[in-house]
Amino acid sequence: MDTEDLRLARSEMVESQIVARGIHTPWLLQAMQKIPRHYFVPIELHAHAYEDHPLSIGSGQTISQPYIVALMTELLDLHGGENVLEIGTGSGYQSAVLSCMAGQVHTVEFIPALAKKAAENLRMQQINNVILYIGDGGLGFSDAAPYMGILVTAAAPVVPAPLLDQLAEGGRLVIPVGEVSGQQLQVWQRQNGELNMRDVTPVSFVPLRGQHGWKESDWGK
Ligand code: SAH
Repeated sequence: MDTEDLRLARSEMVESQIVARGIHTPWLLQAMQKIPRHYFVPIELHAHAYEDHPLSIGSGQTISQPYIVALMTELLDLHGGENVLEIGTGSGYQSAVLSCMAGQVHTVEFIPALAKKAAENLRMQQINNVILYIGDGGLGFSDAAPYMGILVTAAAPVVPAPLLDQLAEGGRLVIPVGEVSGQQLQVWQRQNGELNMRDVTPVSFVPLRGQHGWKESDWGK
């Protein structure tokens, strides 16, 4: 249930974790105020859903800290109606945030059990502009390319080439790149046919799997 306590916790989260750290995009603040993040975490964690850290969502995966969701979304610089690709659906929360501004969100999840739960979460919130696929998101999703925004919520050793290939002119790719133990959040942009990249901030994400990700034997490093 979305109780008064949880609504208050959500307002407090937006003010003290998001606005206070410099995120001011109005639609994004409204989206984070509106979407009941607690429904995207396991029921025993509902009371912790608005805290300033990632939470476990099962299968060894996490839902990102609210501020990181906001930061990555703001970096995509959406203005409305865009075709967006997300890699790493997890709980579906980041997809729900993106769905408030994008025209269409395509999201790819590697672990079927998480995809099933995320589909349920999104359906419960009556979000119907998110299409969920099970597969290796490192390969992108060429059927619906190109994308004005691509957001990757798992850490890659290097930027997967298929994602750069599927980026539209003027589009942005936001992705954590580096070691399993820590990465830089990078923003890639395709402008006048050229790709440029900037590092934004150090981050720590779960490893990307699949063809462009890490092998399980690398995870301990
Ligand atoms: N955006 C999510 C956070 C997900 S954590 C949320 O809002 O809850 C990262 C997710 O990436 C995990 O669910 C993990 O299973 C998934 N993942 C890892 N490698 C992947 C790959 N190659 N393709 C698609 N998803 C992948």
